[in-house]
Amino acid sequence: MSATEQNTARREPSRPAPNPPLESRPFWNAAREHRLVLPRCEACGQCWFPPSSRCGHCLSDCMHWEDASGHGKVFSFVVVYRVYHPAFANEVPYVVAVVELAEGPRLLSNIVGIAPDKVRCGMPVKVVFEDVSDDCTLPKFAVSSGG
Ligand code: ZN
Repeated sequence: MSATEQNTARREPSRPAPNPPLESRPFWNAAREHRLVLPRCEACGQCWFPPSSRCGHCLSDCMHWEDASGHGKVFSFVVVYRVYHPAFANEVPYVVAVVELAEGPRLLSNIVGIAPDKVRCGMPVKVVFEDVSDDCTLPKFAVSSGG
């Protein structure tokens, strides 16, 4: 059995996975280690997201990756009831949210561990990690008590 066949037997093969561009590979590699990282600009000191080769604030290419706090709040969200892809048939309804991180950047993710009708804008959340395959871990967010 090839490695591909083994993966197919263990996981949901039809579920789409991220195909990150080179600039965001450090983000996804860190996620596999259950770390949330952000690019921080060495010229202006700000973080940005999504990752790119230049600072989203000042266009400097002097940057480094650093661990984020993992804390944020729900900036906006929708509840998805319709099955747009068969791999998600058992997941509806689910919450797709824009999470505003404590460091400032906003990222698109899911809110998990709470009934979708209980999610509110401004709700404090903390990152959690879902290992969907050996190669892919998704940062998601669960309600936190604060921070
Ligand atoms: Zn900058």
